[in-house]
Amino acid sequence: MTDCIFCSIVDGDIPSHTVYEDDRVMAFLDANPLARGHTLVIPKAHHERVNDLPADLATDVFAAVHDLTDRIERAVDADATTIAFNNGTAAGQEVPHVHAHVVPRSEADGGRPIHALIEDRPDVADDELADLAETIGSA
Ligand code: 5GP
Ligand code: ZN
Repeated sequence: MTDCIFCSIVDGDIPSHTVYEDDRVMAFLDANPLARGHTLVIPKAHHERVNDLPADLATDVFAAVHDLTDRIERAVDADATTIAFNNGTAAGQEVPHVHAHVVPRSEADGGRPIHALIEDRPDVADDELADLAETIGSA
């Protein structure tokens, strides 16, 4: 897609520090990393959100995340990783081409867990949890 930074990286029009590539998936270092080794894993085809991915491509992207996570941790001697998608603008997605962030973490990095994303949390009663599970499960 024209005007997409990540499509331009896939096409080789913008350089990247590529760590993995096959015919459907690519992974490269984030240009403004949260930690050394912060890697982005993308489908080569332009899709905006996880929800937009064909199931087989979603599988390919996650397979690459799975394969790369241990390699990334070992490369920077990380204790752990935070793996996340900002999925849609309301969730903070700035580049509208699906990408998994694999962010190396250490006990000493001062970072916070994914539960720190939202401080004002809803109080969801058990019967509402049941209704939501039913709605999602039967959708
Ligand atoms: P988002 O907020 O969309 O989840 O994250 C986009 C990420 O892409 C950011 O972490 C940002 O640093 C990274 N990024 C933006 N432009 C470029 C670029 O041209 N090259 C690389 N390697 N990373 C980029
Ligand atoms: Zn794109």
